[in-house]
Amino acid sequence: MSTNNSMITPDSVSSVEPVVEEVAGVQAAEKSDVLLEVKNLKKSFVVGTSFFGKPTKYLRAVDDVSFTLKRGKTIGIVGESGCGKTTMGRTILKLHDVTGGRIIFDGEDITDYTRAQMRALRQRMQIIFQDPYSSLSPRMNVGEIIGEAVKVHGIVPAHEQKKYIQDIMQKCGLQSHFYDRYPHEFSGGQRQRICIARAIALKPELIICDEPVSALDVSIQAQIINLLKDMQKEMNIAYVFISHDLSVVEHISDEVGVMYLGNMVEKGPKDRIFANPLHPYTQALFSAIPVPDPETKMQRRILKGDIPSPSNPPSGCKFHTRCERCMEICKTKVPTVREVEPEHFVACHLYNEDENEG
Ligand code: SF4
Repeated sequence: MSTNNSMITPDSVSSVEPVVEEVAGVQAAEKSDVLLEVKNLKKSFVVGTSFFGKPTKYLRAVDDVSFTLKRGKTIGIVGESGCGKTTMGRTILKLHDVTGGRIIFDGEDITDYTRAQMRALRQRMQIIFQDPYSSLSPRMNVGEIIGEAVKVHGIVPAHEQKKYIQDIMQKCGLQSHFYDRYPHEFSGGQRQRICIARAIALKPELIICDEPVSALDVSIQAQIINLLKDMQKEMNIAYVFISHDLSVVEHISDEVGVMYLGNMVEKGPKDRIFANPLHPYTQALFSAIPVPDPETKMQRRILKGDIPSPSNPPSGCKFHTRCERCMEICKTKVPTVREVEPEHFVACHLYNEDENEG
């Protein structure tokens, strides 16, 4: 597409308008570095029905979550098991229907996209699952696994496909003669490399990485994380990186979001969140990160009790039943999200002076 401004001349009035529009459009497209916008996203599941089959009870797995993700960047999503991070990742890809809120991908509101519309987008939005053992078909060889979607989406002409797949395999640290082998012949780390190769072969712009290293040995985890970082650098892919492992999240993320019972209770640039966690839940989570210095004594804060059921969450601040700093207001009033320092947001009454005075 041409962006040549010299085409706009006073003499060519009839051609001015469309050219200006075209140039403005190109500039707007170039300007927007935001790839994904999640606005007040909600996902509920029906967990109880009346005698007549009417829903009476809901499990609010994702409850009013908002964030933006820039191209080529990573947002790490952390929280205990059951906090809704996996459901959120799948809802963004519309593997679950959306209950409320909006999902904007590359400027397009995809919230109400049909399956057919999503199929066309799948190539641009991929997912890597936690378990590389069950996410690969045992009946397909590596070439078929990686090539299946490459063929469907017509990423390269058919006669170039094998070479293309072998190049991707090499990028992912898989030797090209593995092409005809089957998943059971590989270790866990190699299988996860196959999963990554399958995802990046489609040249996606966004990958939801759902606990991609938690099923792997620690020694292999670093290799896979470094591979993901290399691929991101080379292909400008954005990641939503879901993990309960804070050390891994610290290594890979640009931004961090902390989830508790379906809410994002804190979010901001990684350095700020790790240097200055504000929410009592984040502070408790971070206090459990091992310190690689025998001289430094860890001041671990143990969280009381289990995470409550999302089908019957506590009133007010959902964390109040486990919070050491709980105040009366916390039991009844839901805290609003506030920007406590630049780009660092937290939902906690401790940071709302007006409310505390009341
Ligand atoms: Fe704790 Fe209250 Fe803050 Fe919730 S709002 S995290 S209960 S201090």
